[in-house]
Amino acid sequence: MSFASQGFAPEVVKALDECGYEKLTPIQQQAIPVARRGHDIFATAQTGTGKTAAFSLPLIQKLLDSGKSASRKTARALILAPTRELAEQIADNIKAYTKYTPLSVTSVFGGRKMSSQVRALETGVDILVATPGRLEEHIEQGNVSVANIEFLVFDEADRILDMGFIHAVRKIMLDVNTDPQIMMFSATTSSQLNLLAKDILRKPKRIAVERANTTASTVAHVLYPVEQERKTELLSELIGRKNWQQVLVFVNYKETANDVVQELKLNGIKAVVCHGDKAQSARRRALDEFKSGKARVMVATDVAARGLDIEDLPHVVNYDMPFLAEDYVHRIGRTGRAGKRGHAVSFVNRDEELTVVQVENLIQQPLRRIELAGYEPKNRDSYIEKLHTKPSSQRQGRRNNPNQPSTDQAAAERRLAMVRRLKARRTQ
Ligand code: AMP
Repeated sequence: MSFASQGFAPEVVKALDECGYEKLTPIQQQAIPVARRGHDIFATAQTGTGKTAAFSLPLIQKLLDSGKSASRKTARALILAPTRELAEQIADNIKAYTKYTPLSVTSVFGGRKMSSQVRALETGVDILVATPGRLEEHIEQGNVSVANIEFLVFDEADRILDMGFIHAVRKIMLDVNTDPQIMMFSATTSSQLNLLAKDILRKPKRIAVERANTTASTVAHVLYPVEQERKTELLSELIGRKNWQQVLVFVNYKETANDVVQELKLNGIKAVVCHGDKAQSARRRALDEFKSGKARVMVATDVAARGLDIEDLPHVVNYDMPFLAEDYVHRIGRTGRAGKRGHAVSFVNRDEELTVVQVENLIQQPLRRIELAGYEPKNRDSYIEKLHTKPSSQRQGRRNNPNQPSTDQAAAERRLAMVRRLKARRTQ
């Protein structure tokens, strides 16, 4: 099914052509005709399925058809996204789709000065992409009104709720005086999300491109059992040995992200970091370096990396297993996009095995176990033995190498437990 056959304006079709879009993706095939008929939509769609175009093209066409323009300090269409990165990315995509039209597109999100955003809102904006917290601030200060919006989209609605934006969302909704067409897109579903959908959607059409809570079928899921202390070594080894060129690595803590990047650099692997403590400009620079191939590895936390569009990403590594199985789905959504082959790798210590079971239940398929000699936890005992028999000068592995030689196995065990506790404390 082509975009021209969907009755989009020639300016839009030309822009999509330049984006390299020829045929509609499955979510677009389902959502676009329904949205163009004016229905509310509640869609379950994974990241990377083409959902941005699925919700934005219908509203772009309707805004064009109406022939109206935005009045001062108002928005005509509002798209809410959970993170600044996703908001920026959505705005960038929509700017590309509308480049030959007169429609204006602006994004507002935290971490940037209010003043430049105020200026952009001053003249009125056709399509406003925003994170809920920052938008609430702008509304309170009278910088923009959403009272007359014609379209409202929630992208990654599940994450908007996970991030505690429900109050901001409800406050924003109170300011809406019209009866806008509402589209809600989410990678996963939850009872809280269903409740919000029930509250604000009007007879929504349910759309799901794949079973909810799944990853793309083109992704190979593999798992390496490994001691926590040896994960960075394993990462360096796999990157080098298998010659992985573009690797997105997920960790659970900002401190771990910094540590892993430092150690990769020591091993001669160019790596950048992306987490919430980094300034917006630093995160953008890191993403640009990673996308352009200047950096081979980007180490990120979930919040910072959520929704980032990195095309053709071949490898995603869970350095730490996520706390929630659903986050596995979000992380792995970066690979195997648009029918391409993807590779999802998880490093699993003994304590993380429980999450593996939850992930396998959620995605309804097993993660293939690869036991790499020397790394699997069951080898730990022989590793400890080696520590006893080798002279201290030959002992290897900084993290596994307690400072004092031991005289018995129990003492080595105690020290190992202590190293692990220290490491756990560092990463909290
Ligand atoms: P999204 O799920 O919106 O983040 O889109 C994932 C990726 O697919 C982005 O790089 C889009 O530019 C791309 N994309 C979206 N729709 C199409 C299409 N119809 N044909 C080819 N690529 C697409």
